[in-house]
Amino acid sequence: VEYYLDNIRRKEHLNAFLEVWPEEARAQAEAVDAKLAAGTAGKLAGMVIGLKDVLAYEGHALQSSSHILDGFKSLFTGTAVQRLLDEDAIVIGRQNCDEFAMGASNETSYFGPARNEIDTDRVPGGSSGGSAVAVQADMCLASIGSDTGGSVRQPAAFCGIVGFKPTYSRISRYGLIAYASSFDQIGTLTRSVEDAALLLEVMAGADSFDSTVSQREVPVYSQQLTPAPHYRVGYIKDCLERPGLDPEIKAATEQALEQLRGQGHVVEAVDFPYLDFIVPTYYILTTAEASSNLSRYDGVKFGYRAPDATDLESLYKKTRAQGFGPEVQRRILLGTFVLSASYYDAYYTKAQRVRRLIKEKTDELLREYDFLVLPTTPTTAFRIGDVNKDTLAMYLADIFTVQASLAGVPAISVPNGTDSQGLPIGLQILSGAFREEHLLAFAGSIT
Ligand code: GLN
Repeated sequence: VEYYLDNIRRKEHLNAFLEVWPEEARAQAEAVDAKLAAGTAGKLAGMVIGLKDVLAYEGHALQSSSHILDGFKSLFTGTAVQRLLDEDAIVIGRQNCDEFAMGASNETSYFGPARNEIDTDRVPGGSSGGSAVAVQADMCLASIGSDTGGSVRQPAAFCGIVGFKPTYSRISRYGLIAYASSFDQIGTLTRSVEDAALLLEVMAGADSFDSTVSQREVPVYSQQLTPAPHYRVGYIKDCLERPGLDPEIKAATEQALEQLRGQGHVVEAVDFPYLDFIVPTYYILTTAEASSNLSRYDGVKFGYRAPDATDLESLYKKTRAQGFGPEVQRRILLGTFVLSASYYDAYYTKAQRVRRLIKEKTDELLREYDFLVLPTTPTTAFRIGDVNKDTLAMYLADIFTVQASLAGVPAISVPNGTDSQGLPIGLQILSGAFREEHLLAFAGSIT
């Protein structure tokens, strides 16, 4: 704990943590020591973790890196976090992220961007940017993030670590601030696949507080990390031909595929005809869901309240205008528009249909192949300020991560070397729903 606290202090300029809880962490560490001596310690004894600022932890500030939740403290602890505590993990603080997890660079945070330790003029990715930097810069052993369209995988790729999003519904969302509920999933940022497996087995499983969570039994993932000798691996041809894909990432991905072939796996090109539609479909559906989820922040129940309101309507308007940042406002407007009576069928219903097509095709490919392998991102970490001005360019940066989110299947990003500037490259692997033990075993074997 002292080691990590010291790193957090020395690396404050990276803006990874919004708040640190040193006294509590020390007390937890002492309690764990006593349990270790008594032989009663849990599976995560001594694992120092950080929480993305979207996870409820009783008595602790929680604000999704937004001004609108200023002063809000959580009244309860979410299921995933409680399970970590029950296994004696030590929680060290809460981490910076894009406001309401909307973004791919951590630049929409009310608290300013987190910085990539490899080059502090560059973004760490987002939305779980602070969580990725915290692991990258050794400020905690693991971070718990959330992934709606790539928010643990993309920052993991930009920071050279492992980012893992389980199957939708594998981990309870009780205590996770909602962005787009049919996509949101808690995920992990770690240095190793083994740690990701261990954290998943602790957090996953049935929970009476989340009616969407899967009732399936939870395998002991950390004990099942031996891969099969031969897998069938598909790669989407179109992904590698994508204009805008950094040639060095393309080369690194092709090299990884070649290596897999060399190891005796079957590696084949597959067709996925919907690549052009996945980003628009994702942004129509997630903004629609967000516009509904974020209607609860009205200045009455949580956090910030505009001081200059004169009646109820002006209270709503002023609180929301002052409390939400520009990207969140843009998404609420977009979501409200696609759900409006005149446009509902043209956009929302149509996007639901396209999502179904994308899901069916992805599931079909993942029945034919054990895994799909593709780059995590089209570029390496970009400079702070460079992409942020161009909303569409920022949305298009999600091109490789949103397929797994639309389909609800698990996906992991593992380090795949660096480019000529020394910036990390990520390799992404998808498997069929609830096949995490295979996905983790395979991912572990190639890192
Ligand atoms: N960049 C994507 C978005 O802004 C993904 C965010 C996320 O997964 N939370 O929606």
